[in-house]
Amino acid sequence: MFNTNTTKYLNMRPLKIVVLAKQVPDTRHVGPDAMKPDGTVNRGKLSTVFNPDDLHALELALNIKDRIPGTEITILTMGPPKAADIIREGYYRGVDFGVMISDRRFGGADTLATSYTLAKGIEKLAPFDLIVGGRQAIDGDTAQVGPQCADKLNLPQVTYVEEILEIKEDEIIARRRLEKGIEVVSAPFPCLMTVHGSSPACRSRHAKRVMKYKYARSATELRSADEFMIDLHTKRPHLTIPEWNVEDINADVEKIGLSGSPTKVKSVENIVLTANEAKLLNDSDADIEMMIKELIEHHTIG
Ligand SMILES: Cc1cc2nc3c(=O)[nH]c(=O)nc-3n(C[C@H](O)[C@H](O)[C@H](O)COP(=O)(O)OP(=O)(O)OC[C@H]3O[C@@H](n4cnc5c(N)ncnc54)[C@H](O)[C@@H]3O)c2cc1C
Repeated sequence: MFNTNTTKYLNMRPLKIVVLAKQVPDTRHVGPDAMKPDGTVNRGKLSTVFNPDDLHALELALNIKDRIPGTEITILTMGPPKAADIIREGYYRGVDFGVMISDRRFGGADTLATSYTLAKGIEKLAPFDLIVGGRQAIDGDTAQVGPQCADKLNLPQVTYVEEILEIKEDEIIARRRLEKGIEVVSAPFPCLMTVHGSSPACRSRHAKRVMKYKYARSATELRSADEFMIDLHTKRPHLTIPEWNVEDINADVEKIGLSGSPTKVKSVENIVLTANEAKLLNDSDADIEMMIKELIEHHTIG
């Protein structure tokens, strides 16, 4: 789906937008060592991708920037050092600034600790008009982090946003995608939105921006960088990705990471479907009738 709404708001004041984006394991390549014995994700063993819904959130922000000149977008991620890839990806596609929240003490966070940490980071980025994130992340799949951030920041929230219909001085009007239809709602600025996967897909990387930002590195990455890279960052400080630790965002250590996470995963089971558990059906009346009969016999429906 391409962006259909291209209405320009040339007289509108520029907005400050924060995009929440998470680096997630690539669930297309999950192996047997994907989870640690304590039930947390073994991120070091998994290849990673930009969380798909967050790319939709990024596009929503970039579309607003196209329509309101001067709008500034900051991409914010919490994660281990390699999450710097998310910031670079944001730069390649058009964001103005990127910030990483990264510190070993943030590890093992559940949604409560994650949203607390992100909210502290967002507070540090204030003032802002709009926070956008994906509806959910494909590793946790909870869809709780956005709403919890809004709650902690005391902001109005609009979830499942599909398209921004109108932007006024003090309010933003959006269409939400619900299970059985759509809803049009308005929210005052500042507010938080989570973006549905049915919204327009994110634009591609921009070749010139890839050339400009391919050497962007976080402070941690710079520690093991060669002389060329260190020299480049001294000359072009905009390439250094700010990295915030616990103290930088003034976080309470009791509310972050494992200690701030009441959720404990008791056990994780691998379910492997064998071939004889799968049945191939076509769209003939006979096959559909057989399937319904079986579902009723197994008490799945009826
Ligand atoms: C098997 C398993 C079970 C789990 N069960 C629970 C549980 O029951 N309860 C619980 O609280 N936690 C649970 N967790 C942990 C939870 O998945 C993680 O804490 C996760 O970091 C946060 O939730 P999410 O991925 O579901 O995010 P979601 O709430 O699905 O994410 C929504 C959006 O928030 C933003 N966002 C989320 N995380 C970040 C980030 N780090 N940086 C930037 N933006 C971000 C993104 O825009 C994202 O699209 C479980 C984890 C596993 C592996």
